[in-house]
Amino acid sequence: MEIVRLISCNTAFDANIIKTKLESEEIECFITNENFSTIYPFLTGGIDIMINEKDLERAKELISDETKKEVVCPNCGSKNVHLGLGKNKIKKIFLILIAVLSFAPVGNVKSQYKCKDCKTLF
Ligand SMILES: [Zn+2]
Repeated sequence: MEIVRLISCNTAFDANIIKTKLESEEIECFITNENFSTIYPFLTGGIDIMINEKDLERAKELISDETKKEVVCPNCGSKNVHLGLGKNKIKKIFLILIAVLSFAPVGNVKSQYKCKDCKTLF
C-alpha cells in the first residue's frame, strides 16, 4: 500500500483540524514534521498529512472546504499574497538563528502575509 501526502499545512493547528476531519470519516492518516514545524516553522516545508493512496480522492473532497479558504489581502482583496517574515526580516532571521543554535523555541517571531500587489503586511 502506498502512502502519499495529502496536503501540507502551515500550522499544527490546521493539520490537526484536517486530521480530525479525516478520522471522523474513518480515513487513516498521520502527521509528519509536527514537532519540528511548531518550533521552527520557517525552516521546514510545513506539516504534511500523509494518507493511504486509496483514500486520496475521497480525502481531497473532504478537505476541499478547508482549503477553499484562500488568504486575501485586506487592503485590495488581491489573492496574490505570500507568507513571509514581515518587517524586521533580518532581525527575525537573526532571532531564529540564535534560537536554533541554542535549541530554544522561537517564541516572539511571527510570520506575516504580504500582498504582492499593494505591499500591505497583515
Ligand atoms: Zn493588497
